[in-house]
Amino acid sequence: SRRTLIAGNWKMNTRADSAVALAREVAKAVGEEPAVDVALCPPAVYLSAVADAVAGTPVGVGAQNLYAAQDGAYTGEVNAAMLKDIGCHYVILGHSERRAILGETDAMISEKLQAALAGNLVPIVCVGETLEDREAGNTEKVVESQLRGSLAGLDEVRAAGIVIAYEPVWAIGTGKTASKEQAEEVHAFIRKLLGEMFTPEVADQIRIQYGGSVKPNNAKELLSQPNIDGALVGGASLKAEDFAGIIHPA
Ligand code: 13P
Repeated sequence: SRRTLIAGNWKMNTRADSAVALAREVAKAVGEEPAVDVALCPPAVYLSAVADAVAGTPVGVGAQNLYAAQDGAYTGEVNAAMLKDIGCHYVILGHSERRAILGETDAMISEKLQAALAGNLVPIVCVGETLEDREAGNTEKVVESQLRGSLAGLDEVRAAGIVIAYEPVWAIGTGKTASKEQAEEVHAFIRKLLGEMFTPEVADQIRIQYGGSVKPNNAKELLSQPNIDGALVGGASLKAEDFAGIIHPA
């Protein structure tokens, strides 16, 4: 059975002091033996400080991106070995903001995926349709093409350890959450597709998170769906109380 993973994507928010304070508050709220896995994904410059703040607790740390090369002349970039070195366990790849604003393609994401796995990081690969895609009836087509492209070259053995985040673009930062039925429908589709790309046994092990306006008041119904194995939380992860309310839904 798949263990729920609740991850906070802080995006480009916080400062050194607020990042450490938030990480400490989350660790306190999570306690020593949480029923779910919890991860915090701060901006790259605060990864070390957050990793130190949660050291010795069950809270894991993840990066929001990496560059798919070994050390070398890549000004401004950070690679998997560096992330591992400072205590990262996870790395978010192909977030819709990086796809839309930074021009990331499925081909780039598949290279980053290989680099993450080679560096022993757990990749959280993001996919999701825009409102235009959904209204045109293209949700499954778009998600399938993103998945096949982003996971190109991934072997069966390693596939079982990755995490997929289904984040409909229209639900990100908009307060418009996918209904539990809408989300479950796409999650079930993704799992079936993963079964075809790998094997049904492998697909059964892959955790599929939902992301897009997850809040304490909608987390429980989303997380109770059979194919929703966690949440990738943006805005609500910036307040310890809200994030804790998603980790321990009332
Ligand atoms: P919000 O929770 O702010 O909608 O963001 C979702 C997201 O993009 C997480 O990666």
